[in-house]
Amino acid sequence: MSFAQEENDNYWKGLIESRLREISLDNRYRKRAVVRSIDGGRKLIQKGVSYHNFSSNDYLGMSQHPDIIAAWSEGAERYGVGSTSSAYVVGYQEPIAQLEERLADWLGYERALLYPSGFSANQAIIKVLCEKGDTIIADRLTHASIMEAAALSPATLRRFHHNSIDSLERQLRLTDSSEGGRLIITEGLFSMDGDEAPLSEIAQIAKKEHSSLFMVDDAHGIGIWGEEGRGTTSKQRIKPDILVVTFGKAFGLTGAAILMSEEMAEYFIQRGRSLIYSTAISPAHAYTLHAILEKIRGEEGDRLRSALHRNIAQFRQGIEHIENGRYSTGSNSPIQPIIIGENSQTLDISKALKEAGFWISGIRPPTVPKGEARLRITITALHQPEVIDHLLQALEEQLKRWS
Ligand SMILES: *Cc1c(COP(=O)(O)O)cnc(C)c1O
Repeated sequence: MSFAQEENDNYWKGLIESRLREISLDNRYRKRAVVRSIDGGRKLIQKGVSYHNFSSNDYLGMSQHPDIIAAWSEGAERYGVGSTSSAYVVGYQEPIAQLEERLADWLGYERALLYPSGFSANQAIIKVLCEKGDTIIADRLTHASIMEAAALSPATLRRFHHNSIDSLERQLRLTDSSEGGRLIITEGLFSMDGDEAPLSEIAQIAKKEHSSLFMVDDAHGIGIWGEEGRGTTSKQRIKPDILVVTFGKAFGLTGAAILMSEEMAEYFIQRGRSLIYSTAISPAHAYTLHAILEKIRGEEGDRLRSALHRNIAQFRQGIEHIENGRYSTGSNSPIQPIIIGENSQTLDISKALKEAGFWISGIRPPTVPKGEARLRITITALHQPEVIDHLLQALEEQLKRWS
């Protein structure tokens, strides 16, 4: 190693150490726990101890559903596990094409394009569409994948106050004189607060502006409500120009799709580097997603959605009774945020709940705004009513101690 290189190593070593120290002092240090899901996903085991899982996004219990596990094996036997290349070479295997077709049909769009994750789908949208002179106008609380791509984009990023139509209109007026296109972005169901966006009002505003496109990321809403589980846009009876659905939440697997017009899909196919220069998803994976889709659309999906919403109602009612409703979540979705405020307090409560046998993540800035650290409890269709009751008792005990 040359002298210059050694200096360089020391520079980075020192810098990284001091930045890590800063993160740690601020109670923002993140760790990854090694766990194993059991009991259909209701519980998880860490270091030999089992916990009730109230942190999973697998709202309908698809991740360990026996039929879905069988579909995974069947897909692998029929098509193999690897797509073997980019979709532009020989990776566009039958199950992938079929899944895209079924997704478009389900959600009422001309086309669906499959992506390996919601993160990559959101990045692709901004990279493909937005150029210098364009403006991205996004709700302040939209997902990190959107915000990161928008911040790196040559387009201008403007953010409107969470779910505020006035603020959106103000941001639009500020771009009145600009020449470029506008991409208005929000989520169907927000991932940290569990609230819905006023989609039809935003859609009306977007429609008035001929230079605007309206995009909705419905990662958390898809599968859990609307007819056949079509999600928040179906529930609110709107059809955005671009709809993102992801398969890591109610689908219980991974992946994502972007729903759009024929013309736009062709544009994405020509310009989307992440599709061109990346291996297509596994055909067995696509086959499994297809099996999940059929379940979500069908009778079993309806049954699971009813169970989910019953569980959510039970939890909400319970929270209302703690400390005169001080911690009421205001959410009728599987995402139930209990706002604590301080990072350290949130971590302490999360730890105490863990000791009581409940796995609940504490969410801290920068994932949520400063001073709004919270317990993020997720309810699924599989939770048993008595376990939800036990959780409510444990929560009451902890929250009373801190109030
Ligand atoms: C989870 C999530 C994503 C990322 O999706 P992945 O498939 O997990 O990469 C994107 N947007 C929102 C709103 C999400 O909640």
